[in-house]
Order: sequence, then C-alpha cells, then structure tokens
Amino acid sequence: MAQRTFSIIKPDAVRKGFTGAILAEIEKAGFQILAIKRLSISKEQAKGFYAVHSARPFFDPLTTFMSSGPIVLMVLEKDNAIADLRKLMGATNPANADEGTIRKKFAGSIQENAIHGSDAEDTAAFEIGYWFAGYELV
Ligand code: ATP
Ligand code: MG
Repeated sequence: MAQRTFSIIKPDAVRKGFTGAILAEIEKAGFQILAIKRLSISKEQAKGFYAVHSARPFFDPLTTFMSSGPIVLMVLEKDNAIADLRKLMGATNPANADEGTIRKKFAGSIQENAIHGSDAEDTAAFEIGYWFAGYELV
C-alpha cells in the first residue's frame, strides 16, 4: 500500500551540487515526489526537528550543520516508502554504506551524510507535519 515518508537533502549535498543527482536516484527507485521545497532553516528549527536526539553528544554540531546552508525538504510516496528509502540511503556512516546507496555515492562523513529519511510511521507523520502544511500535499 502506498506509504509516505519524509526526506531532506542535507546542506553538504546541496552545497556540493548533488541535489539533482539525488532527486534522480529517488525517482529512479520509484518514489513520487509529492511535495518539495528548498529552505534555509534556523538552528532553533533544526533543534525542534531533531528533538529526539537532544540528549546525544552530537546534537549541537548536528543542528549547527543542518542550519549551515540551504536544504531540500520532500514528502515522498511509494509502497513501503519508509523502509525502501532507508535502504536507498545506506548506513548513517558512509564508510559502512553499501555500494550503490546515496550515502556511499554522495556523503562525506557520519555527520555530513547527504540525506535524511524518516525511520518509522510515527516519526514520518511528525516530520511531514513539522515542515509541510496539509494544503501543500494535495
Ligand atoms: P537521519 O535521521 O538523518 O536520517 P539516521 O537515522 O541514519 O539519519 P540518526 O541516528 O537518526 O541517523 O542520527 C541523525 C543524524 O545525526 C545522522 O544522520 C547524522 O547526520 C548525525 N549523527 C548521527 N550519529 C552521529 C555521530 N556519531 N557523530 C556525528 N553526527 C552523527
Ligand atoms: Mg534518524
């Protein structure tokens, strides 16, 4: 059944000019891009988005990084979208990412790892609602 997930092309990948190449990988893998926008976000907005990680040692550098330049936010749809996007992204640390994955091809480090994807149905719903209004998803 068609499922929605949320994704971000992170500032490192946008800076390096990989936006189009990553969008092509996503479409090639069968995802529909339901909504898309490019934004520069504040550190406060990044902290709200990554609130689940607020106790982690990498929270401050992560939110500084995510607010360091434009990002591309997307709502994606396909059967099994959440798990399939995670597979297409590859491991968090690009050193451990499988051949052919987006992080293997485009990520530079465990922090600057090119792409975000929701990890479960409840986080996908929170993340879509955090960045997109209902009228943007028709
Ligand atoms: P994302 O949530 O961005 O899709 P993920 O689910 O693979 O990635 P998480 O564990 O949720 O990984 O971590 C969120 C983000 O925090 C990572 O994508 C990465 O940018 C950063 N991060 C995670 N672990 C570390 C670490 N040990 N050092 C630095 N940054 C990290
Ligand atoms: Mg995560």
